Amino acid sequence: MEIKKCPFCGGEARIAKTELTTHAMLIWVKCTRCHNHTASIKTASHEEQAMQESIERWNRRAV
Ligand SMILES: [Zn+2]
Repeated sequence: MEIKKCPFCGGEARIAKTELTTHAMLIWVKCTRCHNHTASIKTASHEEQAMQESIERWNRRAV
C-alpha cells in the first residue's frame, strides 16, 4: 500500500517501528520532514497488519 505525502507539509512519510520486547512492537507512520505522526499501534506478531493499519490511518488524515 502506498503512503500518501504529509497533509501538513507535503513531505515524505515513512513507517516507523520500535521493538519493545521480543514479543511486542510499536508501529506508526511519521513524516520525515515535520515529524507529524499517527498514534502508534502495539502488536505482538501481526507486523504486516499493524503496518497496513498505520498507513490507512495516515492516509485518512484530512489536510
Ligand atoms: Zn510533514
